[in-house]
Amino acid sequence: MKITKIDTVFTEEFGSISWVRIHTDSGHIGLGETSHAPRTVTTAIHELFSPILIGENPIDRERLWQRMFRIAEPFGYAGAEFRALSAIDIALWDIAGQAMGEPIYNLLGGMCRDKIRIYNTNSNWGDIRDKEMEWNDPVGLVQSLLDEGITMVKVYYSQLIPDNGWGDFVAQKDLKLALEPLEKIRNRFGDEIDIAHDGWGRWSLPAAIKICQAMDDYDLFWQEEMMRLLNVEAHLRLKQAIRTPIAAAERLIGKWNYREYLEKGALDFVMPDLNWNGGITETKKLAALAETYQTPITLHDFNGPVQVLGSAHISLSVPNMAVQETSRGMYKGWYEKVVDRNVDIRDGYLYPPEGPGLGTALKPEVLDRPDATVMVSDEAAG
Ligand SMILES: [Mg+2]
Repeated sequence: MKITKIDTVFTEEFGSISWVRIHTDSGHIGLGETSHAPRTVTTAIHELFSPILIGENPIDRERLWQRMFRIAEPFGYAGAEFRALSAIDIALWDIAGQAMGEPIYNLLGGMCRDKIRIYNTNSNWGDIRDKEMEWNDPVGLVQSLLDEGITMVKVYYSQLIPDNGWGDFVAQKDLKLALEPLEKIRNRFGDEIDIAHDGWGRWSLPAAIKICQAMDDYDLFWQEEMMRLLNVEAHLRLKQAIRTPIAAAERLIGKWNYREYLEKGALDFVMPDLNWNGGITETKKLAALAETYQTPITLHDFNGPVQVLGSAHISLSVPNMAVQETSRGMYKGWYEKVVDRNVDIRDGYLYPPEGPGLGTALKPEVLDRPDATVMVSDEAAG
């Protein structure tokens, strides 16, 4: 089998997300996805990677990953090059699964579980106003999640704390702004809901310690990215100062960057973003690295349907997996506009994708949308 053509598409409506399709001489089309700076990422796909991929056997995922990594790596193991590599890798696994007639999770070792516990990260889309409710009606939000069987939610309540714009301090009188919604949720629902908190990398170390120590009283599932992931020792100091487990998340890219956090014991949950972290090839390896530290993975979301489905194949097939992020504003809101088979989430669980490969395909009409930007490569490097 040979790769014959690579096309990409992004749209105005789903602004930050780009999709890549890899075509083969056998008629298979593999789908991948990544996000942010779609013009830059799709240019990276066509400028850097398409010329070395066309004519190659798409089944050789590891070899092709290594060839792409040698192009991406000089620029810091991350950025547009690594996101482009991630999208391509997912598409190659989709082709491999289709060609072998098996879902990707069977290529990864088969099932360790038959469904995946999910949590909700709140977003707005149409009638779904989860993000607004996170701020304005936390009790109503949690009730509506529990009504659907969803028993875990992620919230961003430290964003309610005003500061000087740099996250350097928290005034005592402002701290309660972040605690009040947690207090309301715990008072109403007790232990019926698991709550994760994400600081979105905003805080300095003393501010992060102050907020997390105050939130310790609410028995949160984890504290995620209270600081940007720039210094493992600072995260170790945070971890040693608080009771709540630490999730180190999407800002860490690749197993080499996670290694130091794992070695030093500075995190409790490994949260890679499939679409940024090097795709299925790299994320499966990262899960094995985390396993050696008796640490679970918990795959990041907030992109598109390929991310949720691709992550599901890993979540199903690795032994060390806690929960998977999803956002009902997205999977109920817009995924069906772009893919022919949506994710299957019921009663707080994500069920295995059906069919060979990834389990979905981009609707062809996405490429014909008036707001779509399509690029095509069909020539190998000379
Ligand atoms: Mg996060």
